[in-house]
Amino acid sequence: MPKPIYSITPFTMLDYPNHTACILWFAGCNMRCVYCYNPDIVLGKGKLSIGEATQFLRSRQNLLQGVVFSGGECTLHPSLVSLAREAKAMGYLVKVDTNGTRPKMLEKMLSEKLIDYIALDFKGIGKQHEAITVSKTFHTFAKTLALLQHSAIPFEIRTTWHEALYSREDIGQMVQYLEEHSYQGEYFIQYFRNDVPTLEQLPYHASRLDAAELSTADIQVKIRG
Ligand code: SF4
Repeated sequence: MPKPIYSITPFTMLDYPNHTACILWFAGCNMRCVYCYNPDIVLGKGKLSIGEATQFLRSRQNLLQGVVFSGGECTLHPSLVSLAREAKAMGYLVKVDTNGTRPKMLEKMLSEKLIDYIALDFKGIGKQHEAITVSKTFHTFAKTLALLQHSAIPFEIRTTWHEALYSREDIGQMVQYLEEHSYQGEYFIQYFRNDVPTLEQLPYHASRLDAAELSTADIQVKIRG
């Protein structure tokens, strides 16, 4: 039996907006973001099967409101669909954290109404995205953004910021990119955390951004962390 899930966080009040939830961390990723906080999950092997994850969800049914599918990149795993079906049948709200590289998978899950909320990572524009993620996948981000904008699903866009990777002007251009692509709503920036292991070693980061200065009439920049 394949074991796609690396580990489970049994309870969080932070990862699913306004809901209690658990997090299922899927092993493996098709990116190698230099600032990635989850090297063990990205480079490691899964330890739990879909059956074991389903059993866990059953044990928390009616105790938690939501389940967050994260990773790694959960949408790389075809078994995510059946697990989401099980979770929805048990009454869970389902959130998917994604790097946006599998728009077809998201489309399928959205068409089956298996997702209630999506967090989409925005890792830069064009070549900058490719350098930071060590992958040639920017076009997939653009597709996923378009897909979500044409769906009725609530979603958020978020970027992890380290000044050595993105200047303030780069972040301003990312806001502009979202605006040019008709995005309206909140854009979350989370500061790089210096206290956790990452895929690549980065210099200490202490810079801060001015959210009000970056916001526009359509896009409210919000700082997390
Ligand atoms: S930060 Fe990048 S490498 Fe790490 S899990 Fe997310 S997409 Fe994958």
